Amino acid sequence: MRIAVLALVLWSSPTLAQRIVIDAGHGGTDPGAVGCGLEEQAVVLDIARRTATLLRDAGFTVDLTRSDDRAVSLSARTNFANSRGADRFVSIHANSNAGTPATGSETFAYTTPGSTSLNLRDRIQEEMLRAWGLRDRGGKLANFHVLRETTMPAALSETAFINNCGTDARYLGDATRRAQMAEAHYRAILRHYGRTPGTVTPPTPSTGTLLGVTFEDAGRGLEDTSMRVSGAAVALDGRSERATSADGTGAWSFTVPAGSYTVVATRDGFGEARRTCDVAVGGETWCSVGLVRTSPPEPEDAGAPEVDAGAPTEEDAGTVPTVGTDAGDEVEVDAGSLVPPERVAASGGCSATGGATGFGLWLFVGFLALFRRRRLTLSALAGLVVVGCATESREGTSAALLDETQVTRIELAREVAPFASIEGVTTLHPDRRFLAVEVAPTGDRFALSAPGFATLDVADETTIRTLAQGPARGFAPRWRADGRALGVRTPGQSESAVPHLALDLEGGEVAPITEPDGALTWIADDLVRVDVQGQRRDVSLSGDRPFDPRLSPDRRFVAFRGLSTGLYVHELATGRTLHLGEGGHARFAASSRHLVFERIVDDGHEITSATLWIADLDAGVTAPLTGGSGFDTSPSLATNGTLAWLRDEVLHVGRLHLR
Ligand SMILES: [Zn+2]
Repeated sequence: MRIAVLALVLWSSPTLAQRIVIDAGHGGTDPGAVGCGLEEQAVVLDIARRTATLLRDAGFTVDLTRSDDRAVSLSARTNFANSRGADRFVSIHANSNAGTPATGSETFAYTTPGSTSLNLRDRIQEEMLRAWGLRDRGGKLANFHVLRETTMPAALSETAFINNCGTDARYLGDATRRAQMAEAHYRAILRHYGRTPGTVTPPTPSTGTLLGVTFEDAGRGLEDTSMRVSGAAVALDGRSERATSADGTGAWSFTVPAGSYTVVATRDGFGEARRTCDVAVGGETWCSVGLVRTSPPEPEDAGAPEVDAGAPTEEDAGTVPTVGTDAGDEVEVDAGSLVPPERVAASGGCSATGGATGFGLWLFVGFLALFRRRRLTLSALAGLVVVGCATESREGTSAALLDETQVTRIELAREVAPFASIEGVTTLHPDRRFLAVEVAPTGDRFALSAPGFATLDVADETTIRTLAQGPARGFAPRWRADGRALGVRTPGQSESAVPHLALDLEGGEVAPITEPDGALTWIADDLVRVDVQGQRRDVSLSGDRPFDPRLSPDRRFVAFRGLSTGLYVHELATGRTLHLGEGGHARFAASSRHLVFERIVDDGHEITSATLWIADLDAGVTAPLTGGSGFDTSPSLATNGTLAWLRDEVLHVGRLHLR
């Protein structure tokens, strides 16, 4: 018994929980494939959310790259998973083709996959076939962005063809079938980890849900179901199912094969009530029943008819659409502009001063981002709130203390004509291809990540050699100030400013690489945590999930990325926050005033453009640094102004010139 309890504790402890990123393809401005009245983004979101719920119940830590209909760039999806140190990445899609609609399920791994990715791919493929029984299109290999640029084993499932209205799209459009597909992904991941999937209530495609409430019919019939009657016996005429309408809400439900049913409700003091309703496969049919009182309430019955305004009413009648109705709260959306007290309470440990003004306050607030959908409809308004931390004395107080002069709005960076350029550009090791580069602070060496992030090379102008190999070793290496050692990732390492492992240039292990002044920034509980000279600040991004934080050399700024909203730079002393738009891989110049970053645009499947940008944080402006047809990514700056980046995956080096 004690062992069992211990095992349970160990299993449920966060350090042991496997972190799975479930990626619902497309969303927002990009609906993905469209066919048979369905949008890919909606059906795969439903499957992804159901999968996440099953996995969480099984003890996994699950991150969804989106939990509603919003645009998330491919670069943000992979960089988020990499930054969070996820153990597996599973992307869920629906297929489509030109010409005669095809049919079937297929699953992809990267073109040069590891055995773990292949195992994950094959389990998913097997379980999808088992769940839906569509044509086996096989396990395949592909150079997809989300498979190529993830540091962890990854797979991408194409569940079915959304343009095949005969079978595939019918399954995709059916809530019960989608639940089966979610269970298939859940079972695949458990089996991939050598676990036996628990019993999930098998969703049988022939059934639907018949549900409703019992209420007192005071003469208005179904027009008013608000007077709920609890404790009625509810049965289906000619069948054995029995239920008692629940206390408080008078709610009852049955799962039954499709067909026509007569609900019979009885209760002391009321006449028997009957109502006939048709149940559709996979749907929810509301069939509330009104009871007519035959005798005045008995003393113990005084409060019997329950009123519960919050319960579902008959207005919900009909088949309730299930896409997007699950409770999912991955992303907190604050419609209002003031920081809710619970949000502040969540940022425990906040004790820094509010800056030059001498008193702290929730420095923030209120930014509405419009996610514009195609067809010119606005699908979502997300309220974004960035919260600078408060002094201890003000902590726990609420908006009543909010002084308007202390409210700093998020400024959208203004896009201006180029004010900087790259001079003296050369290419190094042009026969080699890389995913990322970090120039050493000294400007004379480069840490280079090979495709797959499993190899970290170190190069100078003439030589190149491998420093580390293994999962995630090549992701976000961190140079020591003297350029003689590198912090490298270990698998599953979550977002910490200090990589656990540090190696000198000969590959020998050395002390972890910390900042000379001990300053740190990292992510915990979806907060950007900053520790400067022992003072803790928490910065939250309500309405989005922050990741990849980076402190400026002078500790004035913390730059971070929002999963669906792009790049931010938060000024710690003032609470001013600059929103730079889509962007990633932000690197500060030695002056801390300028920041270079990459802006990567995609079409939902592949990258369509990639350019380098520069921000002047004092002026609040951004401008392009590169242009043309090449894909420019992964900028980094040395103390002396040497800029290294990748153009079409080849190492380029130049000098940043400010005009
Ligand atoms: Zn897709």
